[in-house]
Amino acid sequence: MSFTKSFLMMSFITTVAFGISNEKREFARELMPSLKKLVPLHKRMETPRRGEWLAEHPEEGQTFKEYLNCNPVLPTKTRDKIYLLPIGKLEGRYNKLVSDTSTYLRMFYNLETKLLKSISPSLIPKKARRENSYGTQLLSTYILNDILVPRLPDDAACIIALSKYDLWPGKDWNFVFGQANTRKRVGVWSLKRFGVDDKNVDYKTVLKRTVKTAAHEIGHMFTMRHCKAFECLMNGSNSLYESEGRPLYMCPHCLGKLMLLTNRNLKMHLQFMQMHTKTLKFETTSDFYKRSLNLLFPEKAVPSSL
Ligand SMILES: [Zn+2]
Ligand SMILES: [Zn+2]
Repeated sequence: MSFTKSFLMMSFITTVAFGISNEKREFARELMPSLKKLVPLHKRMETPRRGEWLAEHPEEGQTFKEYLNCNPVLPTKTRDKIYLLPIGKLEGRYNKLVSDTSTYLRMFYNLETKLLKSISPSLIPKKARRENSYGTQLLSTYILNDILVPRLPDDAACIIALSKYDLWPGKDWNFVFGQANTRKRVGVWSLKRFGVDDKNVDYKTVLKRTVKTAAHEIGHMFTMRHCKAFECLMNGSNSLYESEGRPLYMCPHCLGKLMLLTNRNLKMHLQFMQMHTKTLKFETTSDFYKRSLNLLFPEKAVPSSL
């Protein structure tokens, strides 16, 4: 039987590459009061409805403290770049989409992003391809293990493939939007179902869907598990509909994790993201960052647009 499963498959790590230094622990300790202060701006997760991710995938979640104690994989001085590898020729809206996604990730993760030359889907052998109503579908596990792992650059914090083609992860699955292997720091996601080829879907919607998935996936690659405390970028999603209801920003727990790995102070992150999301006309998100800044740094309060 073939059926649709999850929004994202994850292979969680069983071993770890780097521990948390005392310096990072001190950084986290100093960050805690600000994170707690932000809690009133966030919405706690409600009991999941039938069909939603948490109704079908009971997960434990992951607090900031639990993250600190799980020896997460973090960028290092020598592994400090996010590589993006397109699968399929970038033309039309794909070109701008991939370029804008690369810029967004650079802002969000405070890591240099490098766009690699796209590879042809003909590199994927017949045994790892099939056809469905979305056209050609590629086997995500083949992309992870046989395409990305051999291409992982020495200075990569992680490498992500962006596929113009639909993906499936193996037997009994209809499709997946994305899949990542955190231990090997490789991931792939498909742009196919975001409406890039559909002229009725405006560019802003396509970009928002893409950067949300991209930032979520890369969070996993730095050992962030799905969040179940608040409505958050790191919530699991069972469908595009469920994903669209989740925010582009992170809850206080996940924001703490992000600050730990980005080596950027909280104020700077909020300012950068407020400005960048305003440029992209993601008004709700930009306004959320503005309210966060006003709450934490009231002396610089600026009027909210909502
Ligand atoms: Zn996920
Ligand atoms: Zn969260």
